[in-house]
Amino acid sequence: MLDILLFLLIIIFIFTYYLIIPYQVKTRRKSLKKAIFPIDWANFLEHNIYLYRILPSDLKLELQDYIKVFLEEKQFVGKNGFIITEEVKLSIASQACILLLGDKENKRNYFPYLKYIYVYPDIILENQKSPENPIILLGLSSVGNKSGHDGVIYLSWTEVAKQSQFPSKGENVILHEFAHQLDQAFGNATGMPRLRNLQESLAWREIFTQEYYNHCQGVKNQQPTVIDAYGALNPAEFFAVVTEGFFLKPRLLQTYHPLLYEQLSRYYNVSSIEWRRKE
Ligand SMILES: [Zn+2]
Repeated sequence: MLDILLFLLIIIFIFTYYLIIPYQVKTRRKSLKKAIFPIDWANFLEHNIYLYRILPSDLKLELQDYIKVFLEEKQFVGKNGFIITEEVKLSIASQACILLLGDKENKRNYFPYLKYIYVYPDIILENQKSPENPIILLGLSSVGNKSGHDGVIYLSWTEVAKQSQFPSKGENVILHEFAHQLDQAFGNATGMPRLRNLQESLAWREIFTQEYYNHCQGVKNQQPTVIDAYGALNPAEFFAVVTEGFFLKPRLLQTYHPLLYEQLSRYYNVSSIEWRRKE
């Protein structure tokens, strides 16, 4: 009798976890996307967010849909007295969702294990570090539980505001930290996010291993590099900085690292030069 009961419970769990919950999520997201994107939101993005401004209208509409869902699903928390406003949320959501463009198969799934976005007014320095302020140095750590179920991203508003308007040196903390989220979605960050199939994984490994090695050599020999030197720290940081480069200095990346550009373009399913979906 107990065996049958246990069996039934397992069936109910599997049914709920794999069918009912995903169906409910899909339905909820579909209805969120149907809501009208407020005109003042669009105006704000147009005037304040470089990565939104440069998009063609079809990708702007796609991005707006992602933003509507993102704003419903993620919680923003102001830290150290920082006040979360609509502008703050829009600035962060719009740039995070750039990484979702072209995600036809929903593989990136709105950064599924990320729940909270903690926003600090400014960088937390090493000597200000405490359990409440766990950020050090740049104040830009992306902290994800190893199992990925309690993810938090920490951002310094000063950095976000500075980098949102113009690509400056091709740096963008939001792209960087959310790329880590994609990388961490299934455990430790390794520099290889979830790919579509084995063939893609093998191609990724081959190209990224070679490019990472070349980058480390370049940095070690103090050569000028298109890719941020910080990427030499480890493969996970390499993936995060080349993601920034892919969206913010695509022509340079394509010229000097064509295979890497192509690999990222296949993964994100967009051309960041012509700004169109690949498939
Ligand atoms: Zn990083």
